[in-house]
Amino acid sequence: MQYQSTRGASLGRFSDILLQGLAPDGGLAMPEHIPTIITAKNLHEWKTYNYADLAFAVMRHYIDDIPENDLRRILHRSYHESVFHSEAITPLTRLGDSHTYILELSNGPSLAFKDIAMQFLGNAMEYVLEARDQRLNILGATSGDTGSAAEYAMRGKARINVFMLSPHGRMSPFQQAQMYSLQDANIHNIAIEGVFDDCQDLVKAVNADAAYKSRHHIGAVNSINWARVLAQSVYYIKAYLALDLPEGAEVDYTVPSGNFGNIYAGYIAKRMGLPIAHLIVATNENDVLYHTLRSGEYRARPAADVAKTSSPSMDIGKASNFERYIYNISGDDSAQTAALWHTLEAGGTVSLKALGERIRASGFDAGRSSHADRLTTIRDVYEKYGRLIDPHTADGVHVARQWQAAHPSERPMICLETALPAKFEETVQEATGITAPRPERFRDIEQAPRRVEILPNDVTALKDYIARSLAQHQ
Ligand SMILES: *Cc1c(COP(=O)(O)O)cnc(C)c1O
Repeated sequence: MQYQSTRGASLGRFSDILLQGLAPDGGLAMPEHIPTIITAKNLHEWKTYNYADLAFAVMRHYIDDIPENDLRRILHRSYHESVFHSEAITPLTRLGDSHTYILELSNGPSLAFKDIAMQFLGNAMEYVLEARDQRLNILGATSGDTGSAAEYAMRGKARINVFMLSPHGRMSPFQQAQMYSLQDANIHNIAIEGVFDDCQDLVKAVNADAAYKSRHHIGAVNSINWARVLAQSVYYIKAYLALDLPEGAEVDYTVPSGNFGNIYAGYIAKRMGLPIAHLIVATNENDVLYHTLRSGEYRARPAADVAKTSSPSMDIGKASNFERYIYNISGDDSAQTAALWHTLEAGGTVSLKALGERIRASGFDAGRSSHADRLTTIRDVYEKYGRLIDPHTADGVHVARQWQAAHPSERPMICLETALPAKFEETVQEATGITAPRPERFRDIEQAPRRVEILPNDVTALKDYIARSLAQHQ
């Protein structure tokens, strides 16, 4: 399988794009076509597969430059009960006798759905770096979930170091403890005296120094990596299989969304042939995607106008993966995609009205949620079903219920759980008055010794620190 940019450039094969960030033309990597591999016959056969074997059956169509036995081994190591604390990896549970289901994606090492893709990414990157005799030093900025998923996926990996910037004192106590307690020599936590945007600007400033970047093998594991999208498409299929439906029956999914990576993986599953009727985007108060899908006008929201909400992992003004979706529904038209995104990047508004019919035909819809909706939903789900959900998942359940009320049907509605409530204790406490239980391994994590370097908001200090740490490793 060959890959190309949404803006036209040829990019090589899977191992090439695995290690790449943005394409040289500023676009995102896409396979040259999306094969229709999900047939009634396959779905029947896959019902007995475990998660890793299902992942292999799907992902091997996109990864033909890693020998099959090696790919199978990478997937079995990534999707193992010992990593995800559940044999099913992504269990599907029903809310009472309603048509609504919760797809549990957060039982992995960092308690958020990002672990599912990141575990594969860690193992696949280690494999490719070994094969090519290369090293990778991942530099990233996090306000919480991405950083911890990346660190838990990369800890102890040969040939990989992680330098993760976080805003000093600004993450939740649990999130700080979760990251800073990691003692692995290849994980470098850097608390920057500043806010999240400062951290992101520092990453950009380091990347702008091409000589430094190449000398120190600086790379990224951001949400635009195709391998993450591909790995995420598997759990849409796993959930469908768990319902054990009659042949051809359709389902709906609601997905708490920020960067559009999770729900876009659902779209890929649909394009591969999974019988999905609707894919419903749930946003919080930062409702750019809601407006875009409803009005057909898309304009990114500047960082300064992004509200700080109680579902913080969805506080995003510009959904990077949306470019892939527009590319696909325009019929893989890279010239049109490049033109639209050049307008957007210059701060303009693009009209997707000409594509409106195709957006509707692709099954997408959207809803949004507020802090009050979040609290009501967490409380109601707890009272009705005795089940605690986190604020992001609550945004999804709220939007799903509103959508079901407006479109009554017997179709199953699968809501994706994107984090465990223990990760966002405060809001869960506010909604229900109770403290979310924690997995045993995180019980006293706030008391664990910490490994974190506090640095000023200064790019020279950061570059020196990275160079010094790398020199010590060699
Ligand atoms: C990252 C994240 C999201 C948003 O997912 P996208 O793929 O960026 O749309 C939602 N909820 C939680 C808890 C997250 O960590």
